[in-house]
Amino acid sequence: MWQAEAVVDLAAIRANVALLRKRTSAEVMAVVKADGYGHGAVPSARAALAGGATWLGVRSLPEALELRAAGVTAPVLAWLLPPGTPLPEGVAADVDLSVSSVAQVTELAEAARRAGKVARAHLKIDTGLHRNGATLDVWPKLVEAAAKAQAEGVLEIVAVWSHLACADVLGDPSIDRQLDVFLEASAIAERLGVTPRLRHLANSAATLTRPDTHFDLVRPGVAVYGLSPIEGQDFGLRPAMTVRAPVALVKRVPAGEGVSYGHTYVTPRETTLCLIPIGYADGVPRHASSSGPVWVNGKRFEIAGRVCMDQFVVDCDDAVVAAGDEAVLFGPGDRGEPTADDWAAVVGTINYEIVTRFGRSGVPRRYRG
Ligand SMILES: *Cc1c(COP(=O)(O)O)cnc(C)c1O
Repeated sequence: MWQAEAVVDLAAIRANVALLRKRTSAEVMAVVKADGYGHGAVPSARAALAGGATWLGVRSLPEALELRAAGVTAPVLAWLLPPGTPLPEGVAADVDLSVSSVAQVTELAEAARRAGKVARAHLKIDTGLHRNGATLDVWPKLVEAAAKAQAEGVLEIVAVWSHLACADVLGDPSIDRQLDVFLEASAIAERLGVTPRLRHLANSAATLTRPDTHFDLVRPGVAVYGLSPIEGQDFGLRPAMTVRAPVALVKRVPAGEGVSYGHTYVTPRETTLCLIPIGYADGVPRHASSSGPVWVNGKRFEIAGRVCMDQFVVDCDDAVVAAGDEAVLFGPGDRGEPTADDWAAVVGTINYEIVTRFGRSGVPRRYRG
């Protein structure tokens, strides 16, 4: 290794999806939005499908089309489609599309006519997250509009679905409330003559802890990549991403020397400094200045001073380190290296954000497994 890299273990992704499949009788939609949470959408999608997922989920139409362009033929759902999204391209490419309003039903029906193909719609009910989805009061109108388009033969209602707000908080009362609204919305749809093939509600946390939310399909994201959706709970998942870099330069400096921009870190004693060629442009949070854990030659140290755009320095004390040695920011933790969870705790964020930062704009990615 002569430059920083994110190594993605595809065998881990396959194993994680297989583990999720074992925990449910529902089908699994692997969520590969945000470039597969930074792991690469296409390779992650292929690994997830090999592990037993039968669906893929993304935010946007371009993400879905990227999967299609790469030859992925599995069902793909795209769920955030602002007005003006070129929906006919989605319909033509067999992308399932979510609708949250009567206006979106109209737009999708029009797209289907233009594409000359039946659109596949997932009707979204807002059960309480209050992001996307129709609230219960306008839900009957949405269902009626979709049913009308279905009767006209331009649209197929594939699913009724929703998303949970607090599934990562065990026993949070909002989970039951959202489940109640979901069941009510399903009953309303049925009364209006709409019984879609699928109902789906569960994210990773609900997949792992709330079987009563599984219905026909679960939508795990972060768990696919081996990270726990619930802080401090280990479900036997295996983190798929390792971020590592070579030590670029080693030097000995005396006590009392300021290190990196602003001299916010001052060497407490004579010490060995290691220069690591990865920075905030690559995904390392600047908030990890003087705190981010880094494993060098079998031992954990901390970032000394500010994380720069393209590099940072580690204080390695009196350890024996040479240029070219391996520095690991995080990985599965097998060798005692820090994990994405450790970084999240230091930076004050969630493991999701740590791995997603190392997406396609950052360091080169290498795949194994
Ligand atoms: C991101 C997302 C998921 C996956 O969430 P995780 O917590 O990563 O499992 C599922 N459904 C929707 C609608 C999402 O936006």
